[in-house]
Amino acid sequence: MTMQGGCLCGAIRYQCSQKPILQFNCHCRDCQKSSGGPYVPIAFFAMESVTISGEPRYFQSLGRSGKAIRRGFCPNCGSRLFGLLDIMPAQIAISAGTLDDPAMFRPRANLFASHAAPWDHLDNTLTTFADNAPQGA
Ligand SMILES: [Zn+2]
Ligand SMILES: [Zn+2]
Repeated sequence: MTMQGGCLCGAIRYQCSQKPILQFNCHCRDCQKSSGGPYVPIAFFAMESVTISGEPRYFQSLGRSGKAIRRGFCPNCGSRLFGLLDIMPAQIAISAGTLDDPAMFRPRANLFASHAAPWDHLDNTLTTFADNAPQGA
């Protein structure tokens, strides 16, 4: 099973040779601001299982831990594709809307649900955490 995808214009492409480690919908404010949407559907993959072609441009902000989060965008079309977290250096986050087949994304949880906008529709079949998921969830 290979999950693959890319940005809107095709300048950035990626392939994942392994299944995602984590899949969830993140409703935190940083995801809302950086995407412009109510949440970001995120799949985390082992770094070594992902091959990227093209040169994403990374923008950095600080997470609540005080450690850096770098979000990777296509410099040509602006699509948000990747997230690199200093607190999880062995993994890469991919925005699931950029998958060639978005149906391959299977979210398991809602994170930061207490930050969700009133017009956000949470999937109530998923495990929902008001804030970040506890370790190991
Ligand atoms: Zn692009
Ligand atoms: Zn988030």
